[in-house]
Amino acid sequence: MTVKLTEYFQDAKQQFLVVAGPCSIESREQLLDTAKVVADSGATLLRGGIYKLRTSPDSFQGLGEDAYLLVKEAKEQLGLPFIAEITDPRQIPLFQDYVDVIQVGSRNMYNYALLKELSELDLPVVLKRGFSATLDEWIKAADYLRSGGNDKVILCERGIRGFDNKTRNVLDLASVSYLKKYSDHIVMVDPSHATGDSNLVADMAKAAIFAGADGIMVEIHPNPEQALSDGPQALTFQAYEKLMQEIKTLLPYVQKELVRS
Ligand code: PEP
Ligand code: MN
Repeated sequence: MTVKLTEYFQDAKQQFLVVAGPCSIESREQLLDTAKVVADSGATLLRGGIYKLRTSPDSFQGLGEDAYLLVKEAKEQLGLPFIAEITDPRQIPLFQDYVDVIQVGSRNMYNYALLKELSELDLPVVLKRGFSATLDEWIKAADYLRSGGNDKVILCERGIRGFDNKTRNVLDLASVSYLKKYSDHIVMVDPSHATGDSNLVADMAKAAIFAGADGIMVEIHPNPEQALSDGPQALTFQAYEKLMQEIKTLLPYVQKELVRS
């Protein structure tokens, strides 16, 4: 049985979401090529950054409004729902027109004004963990998202800051297990931002399955070396396809099924 994303929130327990796509939308060709691979792999959602919150103002900031028509074209061509990170409440009207799931990034987990506005919407929201947020702070941020009636909230563990920079962040898989045991939240894992290293992503994705995660989000790129953001952690299409095969083999062990678009 295949569950569609639209039916997902009615019974999320036995389901597994796969979100894949580039860190940033860079061009029409890049997005459409990636979207085809994501659709063919049987994943749930295509991702792609429209607005990027970069540490340096000199780094690529995303295509911004120029990306919306590319998103529309990719969705129409491949029939995949789309998730993007919102960085400002003024983007809400365009997100309502073009985006199916809204992502709140790690840097905005504490942006309570934004969370309150999103809590009024009828769109699913993925809330990433702040990179220094405690579990209590993260859960309370999710409470803000639910406060206006939004009951389609998904948490995403993306690693927290540690003392060692060999990996970009420290993937806190115990947080997944904790949330599944002690809360009613749906929890995803982003092994790309957690590790910052494409060679580590597949192992952490598979570990997430057995930690009880309800899904994963991975960054992929047609040519990671040329990526305008987060190239070192982006999977090639080939590595992504291999990971998807492995995920499909492993999901029966946790009695879960992939949610298809
Ligand atoms: C992202 O998913 O593109 C992203 C910026 O992630 P995070 O907010 O976890 O850093
Ligand atoms: Mn990224």
